[in-house]
Amino acid sequence: MKWLGRRQSDNVEDRRGLSGGKAVLGGGVIGIIILLLNVFGGETGQTVGNALEQLQGNPQQTEAAAPLSAADKEMGDFVRVILADNEDIWGKIFAENGMTYQNPKLVLFRGSVQTACGGASSASGPFYCPGDQKVYMDLDFFDELKTKFGAKGGDFAIAYVIAHEIGHHVQTLLGTSAKMREAQEGKSEAEANKLSVALELQADFYAGVWTHYNQKHLDTGDIEEALSAANAVGDDAIQSKMQGQIVPDSFTHGTSEQRMYWFKKGFTSGDIRQGTTFEDI
Ligand SMILES: [Zn+2]
Repeated sequence: MKWLGRRQSDNVEDRRGLSGGKAVLGGGVIGIIILLLNVFGGETGQTVGNALEQLQGNPQQTEAAAPLSAADKEMGDFVRVILADNEDIWGKIFAENGMTYQNPKLVLFRGSVQTACGGASSASGPFYCPGDQKVYMDLDFFDELKTKFGAKGGDFAIAYVIAHEIGHHVQTLLGTSAKMREAQEGKSEAEANKLSVALELQADFYAGVWTHYNQKHLDTGDIEEALSAANAVGDDAIQSKMQGQIVPDSFTHGTSEQRMYWFKKGFTSGDIRQGTTFEDI
């Protein structure tokens, strides 16, 4: 992606210089993490379990300064440009539809982090918390995406993930997320999961819409990087890697094929009205 020298957003909170956050946990943390976080990928029992172990294992962790490397700083700049791009494009799309876009914050962290949705760790993967309207990311996730989940990697894989999380912010502003959670109440787990899949696929669709309006900045291979990331974090791909079997009723994000399909649909159409993932349920 062509990003050097472009506008950087002021809405990035870089907490990477702090080693871990103070993890103060009360009861019901498992519920908070599972129910409230729009975790990007890999929200299997196993990863949530790991996250909790990490959080609970370090209750007294103190904050200590750790200097950022030149590579860390460059990654921070890249993230600021992608966030600025999202602000510009979604600001325009909202304005064209007679609405006002409110810029979310993006928090870069390492280890663990406190959010309005509860404590979380990097094992949860990148996520959006509707409670404080912030995207939380530990950039080490992208190494894992390559080594553990077999994605191609590349800068546009990161751009796609950021755009997916911003997609959840768009859903929050439009009221879609709240409606979805209401609809989940009283439903069986399998039915509630289907709604979650629709929400996730729509976020992939919105990431595609954002990419549509960003075409002049794309390099050859960028779309393949996004599709490879989407492919790697499909529920079927993750389950077969992590637990050796696929349980469709437990899907919360959609299959690899669905995730790629909706990203591509957003990318080709550039029309937010075509993100009709809830109609397919
Ligand atoms: Zn998501």
